[in-house]
Parts: sequence; C-alpha cells; structure tokens
Amino acid sequence: MDSRTRGARTMGRHKVDLQLAYEPREEWAHFVLHIEPEGGHVASAFNRALSFEERDSPYVHEWLGRLRSCEPTALHCALVEKAKIPRLFHPCVYDDKDSPAAVQRSGCTCRQTWYDPEFGLPVVGEHYRTVGGAIETWTYLTYTPLALRANDTFEALIVDAQAGQYWIRTGDGILALAPQDRLRGFNIGYGGGGPTELARYIQRIVASRGRDTGVDVTRRHRDADLPRHIHDWVSNKAAAVTAELTLEDLAAIQRGHRRA
Ligand SMILES: [Zn+2]
Repeated sequence: MDSRTRGARTMGRHKVDLQLAYEPREEWAHFVLHIEPEGGHVASAFNRALSFEERDSPYVHEWLGRLRSCEPTALHCALVEKAKIPRLFHPCVYDDKDSPAAVQRSGCTCRQTWYDPEFGLPVVGEHYRTVGGAIETWTYLTYTPLALRANDTFEALIVDAQAGQYWIRTGDGILALAPQDRLRGFNIGYGGGGPTELARYIQRIVASRGRDTGVDVTRRHRDADLPRHIHDWVSNKAAAVTAELTLEDLAAIQRGHRRA
C-alpha cells in the first residue's frame, strides 16, 4: 500500500524482490497497512485512526468542505468494523428509502465515503438518523497523515477544543490533521500518554524550527528530556481551549512564558 513500493526486477545477476521503501519525511499520502491473514485482521500500522463529529468546529467544517465523494476503497474498509463493511456500499436513505441502511424508510445507518484530496487519506461518514429524523448525527472516521508533504511548511499547531482534535496549518494555508502515531495520540490535561506525546511533539517542532512535524515511527521514548514548562502546559486542563499556536507561541510555552 505504500506509494514507494518497487516491483520485482533484475539487477545484474541478482533478482530483487518486492521491497518497501518507506520514507515518511519525503512522501505524502503514505499509508502502511498491517495485515494478519490468519485472524483476518487488517488495520493501520502507523497512521492513527480518529473519530469525531463536527460540533461547531470551524476546522472540521473547513476540512469537510474540501473532501471529495468516492467509491469505498480498501482503506475505507480498514476504518470500519468488519461487520459494518457492507454498509459502505448501501445508499443513504436520502437517496433510496428502501436502502438496506434505511430504517422504516426515514431512519438511516449508512456509511458514506470520501477522500481528502490534499493528503489522499480516506474518510468514512457514519450517518445516524432516527425514524422521523428527530435525532441526526454524522461521525467522521479517518486517519492522520504520517507527515506533512515535502514542500509544506509549519505555520501553526491548532488545538481544536470543539472537535477534540489537533491540526497543523501549513505555510500555504492548508489544514492537516496533526500527524500522530497509531498508538500515541495527543491530549491535554488528562492522564495517560496523550499529554506526554503532545509535549514531545511540541518540543520537536520548537527544536527543529518547524521542520520536524512527522510521526516518529521509531517509537523511541525520551521521557527524561521533556522540558518542564511544556509538560506543565499540556498537563493543565485549562490549556484545552481552541488556539492557533505559532512557532513563537510554542517557544514561549517551552520557556514558561505562556500560561494555560
Ligand atoms: Zn444515510
């Protein structure tokens, strides 16, 4: 599934098998699929799966606005429970009142599929509409990118409190979900690894002057050298408010000059 997989070819007398050339810092739309055939298990190897609603977030609204409708692909299937995969292919009640996803011709439990044209990643929309339509919600499932694209520059890290997500604004004004490892998502103010992962990420952005924004797939742990002020900031629930943090803002957090 990686975009830099090279086919078998012959070099001199040595046959070279299919090989994976995974270079996250030089590619975009890269995705590594983890497959265990015996158990029928298919999932992302590195990209973090996210699930969120719009919840009045202007960032989710902006992102939804650029998505393009498409037929379901293998990556959409990897985003949903195995038993729900058939629903990716059923029409919405708005398009067909007799759809297998429709409930009494007015409720709906369909799944719609899109892709993000900027980063190539799949998006599934889970439609929930009660019979009669008194309650209607859409929940979006997608994967984070593993890195920004080769020519993208860092403009701001966005804390999106409405949707509970983290975004990067690039120098060209493009919104990207912040690259996050499958096992190591970001969070503010709560226990667990989320605040620590976010602190590590802020530290890397500041240290690299915004050049190092990709996922560290080596999964090395470096807790010992986490700057105290960043750790204090991400551990404070008061920091979980919507904010666009530039490189200068992040450096101020590291120096202890910006309070939550
Ligand atoms: Zn529907």
